[in-house]
Amino acid sequence: MKHSNKSNKPNHNQKHGNKKPKFRNFYDKGNTKQQNLQAGDSFIFEDSFRPRRSFPFLTPGQALNKHLHIPEKKVQPLKKGTLRVIPFGGVEQVGLNCMGFEYEDELIIVDMGIQFADQYQLGINASIPDLSYCKNKKVTGVCITHGHIDHIGGVFYMMEQLGRDTPIFATPMAYELIKLKQGEMKAELTKLNEYKVYKPSQLGKHFQITPFVVDHSIPDSAGFLIETPVGRFVHTGDWKFDSNPLPYRPSTNYDWLEATGKRGVRGLFSDSTNAHLIGSSISESEVIHSMEDIFKTAKARVITATFSSIIDRVMLIISTSEKFGRKVVLLGRSMNNYIEIAMKLGYVRPKPGTIISMQDAAQLPDDQVTICCTGAQGERYAALMRIVTGESRDTTLKPDDTIIFSSSVIPGNERAVQTLFDLISQQGPKIHHYRESEIHAGGHAKSEDTKKMISLVKPEYYIPIYGYPHMLRGNARNAYEMGYNKKKVPILRNGKLLEFTKDAMYETDQYASHELKTIDGRMVGYTGPKELHDRLQISSQGVLVVTISKKSGKYVIHYATVGLPPVESVPGLKKSLDQRVLSILKDVSKFKSAEEFSNFTERKVCDTMLHDTGKEPKVVVVAQ
Ligand SMILES: [Zn+2]
Repeated sequence: MKHSNKSNKPNHNQKHGNKKPKFRNFYDKGNTKQQNLQAGDSFIFEDSFRPRRSFPFLTPGQALNKHLHIPEKKVQPLKKGTLRVIPFGGVEQVGLNCMGFEYEDELIIVDMGIQFADQYQLGINASIPDLSYCKNKKVTGVCITHGHIDHIGGVFYMMEQLGRDTPIFATPMAYELIKLKQGEMKAELTKLNEYKVYKPSQLGKHFQITPFVVDHSIPDSAGFLIETPVGRFVHTGDWKFDSNPLPYRPSTNYDWLEATGKRGVRGLFSDSTNAHLIGSSISESEVIHSMEDIFKTAKARVITATFSSIIDRVMLIISTSEKFGRKVVLLGRSMNNYIEIAMKLGYVRPKPGTIISMQDAAQLPDDQVTICCTGAQGERYAALMRIVTGESRDTTLKPDDTIIFSSSVIPGNERAVQTLFDLISQQGPKIHHYRESEIHAGGHAKSEDTKKMISLVKPEYYIPIYGYPHMLRGNARNAYEMGYNKKKVPILRNGKLLEFTKDAMYETDQYASHELKTIDGRMVGYTGPKELHDRLQISSQGVLVVTISKKSGKYVIHYATVGLPPVESVPGLKKSLDQRVLSILKDVSKFKSAEEFSNFTERKVCDTMLHDTGKEPKVVVVAQ
């Protein structure tokens, strides 16, 4: 539509000669300036800057992909005598861990992890990898390295796609966790097997898999020796070396790793989470001293926040409490579930009477009580947040409490954790967190551990997995420093196929489908990029519904808003929008379909909104 420019007011562009103004502001369009503006009134702020469009919105990752435009070739049939490695996920993020190994007509999958939503995936519970590649293929086994959610969180969703009768193998802790979840989800996996470490299992004709012990923050963590027709591969899972492991559990068998290396290993797939960081990971046992120092000075209750799945930490909190004459309350369903399983398997062995209920704790003096709960990430409805905000039915915060945050903050959660710190501090308790003392030992290998692993296994190829691209590259440097040629250290991408023959390795440019499949409420895979984009726009810009009808041969236009003030409440806005819509309606014959008309009108109305108000709502046009 044509803009009238009746205003006598010089604008920014007109000041510089008589050039045609490039941009006219709200009032230049003939809208009358609000009269009698009083202090405290609402008004449209007039400026000379053209508001910039933010929508359609690209996430930084999408923008870079568009810029790089890496061609992704379709998958070619698998050649005879070739092992194909399919990174379904986990090599461009922390989480989503899932990798396929395929030979002839058989395929095995290592881990089925989820990825939690990032700031651009509003409302999404999590995502799982896309397993379209496995369609009509024979999956002879799904092998689980350990019970953390980024390795087993996708099991039920993905087994639903592959078939609940697909054989799945896990070590005892992960096996019990899957069984527990199985009960909750009413989805029975008919071939769920428990395997023993160092005992080989034959999966189909082509793969033999031997789980081996690795140190990690949950018991029964395993790596895999995978024997294939083209050679031997080692997949570490999540791991670190622990020089002083906690009791009641097996630890890394260095001799076994070395012996395996001597037999000849084609490729070592190894955890990158912390491998780009210099030094060695600290032992869980070293955390004991820092924890004891805090307990020594605590005058009243100690409240610890950690993940329920970091069982080693919970175990340490229990034993430290016992040492200082405290009883322990485990708060939260997941905390109780994990510890119950760990106790059943003998990994956690509290003295009789140590674990008590909150009701019993209320009868004890405060300096004899430890409360162990979830919520170290500032999650809105986790146990700790509820205690702090007074919403917990179990207990409330007391000024003399000591709060220990005993796990690292997952990137992206910093602000939520900061808020939680502030809410706690306002009420008096002292906070200890992992940055100020050694109350958290990472569960992942650092640079020196990684180099030691490489020197033990001596692989022909070193393949960094598990982590964001910068972590994978940081991990690759460990191999370079040990003399590996770059050609022997492939950097993977999600979906990008890697192939091995008996005497070579090929980094192909073929990609298996690797779009994330969202879990959105109970909908798995339905919500895609378009829906997520709309959510972003709606959440920040609101919704404007334009209803167009005809009455006695005349158009009637009605506006409804969600998350925006009513159109009529902003002076001149209705008039401006009406003019824009009516100008389009003057010649509707140029549109080939109702959809084309709606799309065009939605775009133009959004332009007017941006121009007049600086907002870009999601516009929905309904023509009746
Ligand atoms: Zn883990």
